[in-house]
Amino acid sequence: MFSSLLAADPEVHASVVAEVTRQRHDLELIASENHASLAVMEAMGSPLTNKYAEGLPGRRYYGGCEHVDVVENIARKRARELFTVEGCPLGVNVQPHSGAQANSAVFLTLMQPGDTFLGLDLSHGGHLTHGSPVNSSGKIYQAFHYTLREDGYLDMDQVRDLARKHRPKVIVCGASAYPRTIDFAAFGAIAREVDAVLMADIAHIAGLVAAGVHPSPFPHCDVVTTTTHKTLRGPRGGLILAKRERIKAMNSAVFPGTQGGPLMHVIAAKAVAFGEALQPSFRIYQQQVLENASAMADRLVERGHRLVSGGTDNHLMLLDLSDHPLSGKDAENLLGSAGITVNKNTVPGERRSPFVTSGVRLGTPAMTTRGMQRAEAVQVADWIADLLASPSDATLLARVRADLHALCGQFPLYPELGGGGAA
Ligand SMILES: *Cc1c(COP(=O)(O)O)cnc(C)c1O
Repeated sequence: MFSSLLAADPEVHASVVAEVTRQRHDLELIASENHASLAVMEAMGSPLTNKYAEGLPGRRYYGGCEHVDVVENIARKRARELFTVEGCPLGVNVQPHSGAQANSAVFLTLMQPGDTFLGLDLSHGGHLTHGSPVNSSGKIYQAFHYTLREDGYLDMDQVRDLARKHRPKVIVCGASAYPRTIDFAAFGAIAREVDAVLMADIAHIAGLVAAGVHPSPFPHCDVVTTTTHKTLRGPRGGLILAKRERIKAMNSAVFPGTQGGPLMHVIAAKAVAFGEALQPSFRIYQQQVLENASAMADRLVERGHRLVSGGTDNHLMLLDLSDHPLSGKDAENLLGSAGITVNKNTVPGERRSPFVTSGVRLGTPAMTTRGMQRAEAVQVADWIADLLASPSDATLLARVRADLHALCGQFPLYPELGGGGAA
């Protein structure tokens, strides 16, 4: 596979093939990852990468943009179609290079340096770009954070109290590790009460929203940002959706506010992914993502594990290891050695350091893309519970690893790419 790359650069080729092999042989349970289609990747690997197209379709700062204009317009039209709800006309910008870039562009239009906003605390499932002191959002603006209740659900009373107290310019809702449905209407009521702009960052749940299996942030939110590579299953990238009257300001915040030339090859790949997401099969896929997550969560609870909030409504769950001898880091390493890729994660009331943590985040988008269903989700939960119960049992580890690789072999990934070099 990738014969031109092999001929030109065997060293890089070897790493690329090794990574494809890892994705094929191992099971991806990182909740923010997915496996994009070959069509998406072909668009991403196309000569559109060569084109400078600063500006917007029809209004570029460079010549020769007639074809990339068509592609960007297709992407914009499909994105609007995916996320528009009745009576709430949207504008979209498909140029942000990533979710973080989309957020910084939106903040640039909605706030001045020093202005105040509310977001979900990082250790309770929020994202770095929601006001962490190590991120520009926390350095430029003044962020206050709401947290989860003890039962693991968003504390809307606290959101209201903080909003009344701090009168933020912006309220950000959306998370990287929250297993429950977000009540955008409740956030909307609070934002209206304190006259704040409501922004949703749906980076994780965009695919669920597009498929209609999670409530839409519109019409409650003014602006919505997302990544395109998580549940939405496109190329790595960002996307801004806004009520139509706000999109002009967003456009100039992306370019020239925070970016130079857009990645036209990635925008082409976004167009392809949005086209896939408009198909009926995408809704079936997202329903299966939810079913697999709920089957996995139920099984882990049956096996005596605690989950933050007790379960899941979406594509992810948070295994709470606060009372377990293994830390999140230990569990990540143990499961990784069996071929199950996960990430450690802080849990509410975290007592260990953020580099160690007491939680593991598990998600089903990638395994579901391979075609796995309820039976496989239950089997994987059993393997996870078996391994966590006997972390130093080498025989068990070897057996699980062999069984897991056999299972992955039954759900081949990118078979069209063929083999190509052992790794
Ligand atoms: C993943 C994520 C982002 C950032 O996306 P990148 O493309 O990695 O920059 C932003 N917000 C939330 C809630 C996320 O989960």
